[in-house]
Amino acid sequence: MTIRRLTPQFVEQFPERLEPGELYLAMEFATAVHLCACGCGNKVITPFSPTDWQMSFDGETVSLKPSIGNWSFRCRSHYWVRSGRVVWAGDMSQEAINAVRNRDIRAKALHQAARAQGENVDLPEWKDAQVQPKPATWLERLKGRLGL
Ligand SMILES: [Zn+2]
Repeated sequence: MTIRRLTPQFVEQFPERLEPGELYLAMEFATAVHLCACGCGNKVITPFSPTDWQMSFDGETVSLKPSIGNWSFRCRSHYWVRSGRVVWAGDMSQEAINAVRNRDIRAKALHQAARAQGENVDLPEWKDAQVQPKPATWLERLKGRLGL
């Protein structure tokens, strides 16, 4: 069942069994845990740090920044937790994922092309070409024409 709200539960230790719809916060460990809002039952761990998630508690509800993208789960759910509400970011995220994936594929293809060229430059023809004199520059051609 889809979870629409996450209720903060401040705990010292995370319980063995998590209840859906509860956001367990262990401030000592600067970490929160909840069950994926799609209802798949996967545990979502959100550590708090400047490079992970920022948590804000308004005395009643919790907000998490940035969004939670469960790409490693089968559900691949993506949502925000804003004032305790689960705000789905599904459709937009899929585009974003695809954009990133396409960029990765392009980068990989470019990398492979560069490597393929790198392999080509080891071919004997290229080595032969390398020892041939470079074409004369315009200055050398001019000097040659003037007989200098
Ligand atoms: Zn899920």
